[in-house]
Amino acid sequence: MRKNIIAGNWKMNKSIDEGKTLASSVVNMVSSKLPGDAEVIIIPPFVHLTPVKDQIESALNISLGAQNCSNHDSGAYTGEVSANMLRNVGVKYVIVGHSERREFFNEDNAIMAEKTTKALAAGLIPIFCCGESLEVRKAGEHEKFVSNQIEEGLFHLSLDEMSKVVIAYEPIWAIGTGETASTKQVQEMHRSIRLMLMDQYGDAAAEETSILYGGSVKPENAEELFSQSDVDGGLVGGASLKAQDFVDIANSFK
Ligand code: PEP
Repeated sequence: MRKNIIAGNWKMNKSIDEGKTLASSVVNMVSSKLPGDAEVIIIPPFVHLTPVKDQIESALNISLGAQNCSNHDSGAYTGEVSANMLRNVGVKYVIVGHSERREFFNEDNAIMAEKTTKALAAGLIPIFCCGESLEVRKAGEHEKFVSNQIEEGLFHLSLDEMSKVVIAYEPIWAIGTGETASTKQVQEMHRSIRLMLMDQYGDAAAEETSILYGGSVKPENAEELFSQSDVDGGLVGGASLKAQDFVDIANSFK
């Protein structure tokens, strides 16, 4: 059975004290067993990792994630943080290929492929993001575009490596805009991603891969989105900054 996941990406928000308060509120509000046996992941900025880890330590179903890692192991890369360093501070998951990294930091599919490899080698679980712009969607090229991102970012992995990866489909036009993709659009794209995985890695691996949706997930739309057969949870930005909204979303599985 593939895992249901709710991941909260805080992006570059919250002071250390605010972050500690948010994490401890989430811990207090999440019951020991969530509907759908969901796992909650808190993904704060790097400097919050250790304080947040201290807050969530007692919660069995809450894990720590990082927003990015370097595609290098160590050395003269000012400002970078390696996958091994993240593992050392207790990180379990790492986002790779968020559209904001692709857009603002010019990171392409080749860099994403390297980061995915580094993350896996360090024992981290990559949450590999993919998704098209509005322009691509309007041109009807979204399936081709996302399939190319997945092919170039993930298909160098062995079956064993791929079995550890989580995918997040995040249409760029729905991130932080308040505009959610329709349930039908989301299910169609998730199905198409799963079919790609089936072709490349076989039915069993594809069925076991968690595919999350990201793009203005809120308490009001989470239940319908997560009821789709190929949607295994959400990567949540804005709504993860409010404990009640985030926990309501985490409780939206059937
Ligand atoms: C995200 O940051 O990945 C995201 C989906 O943000 P939001 O939920 O705010 O659209």
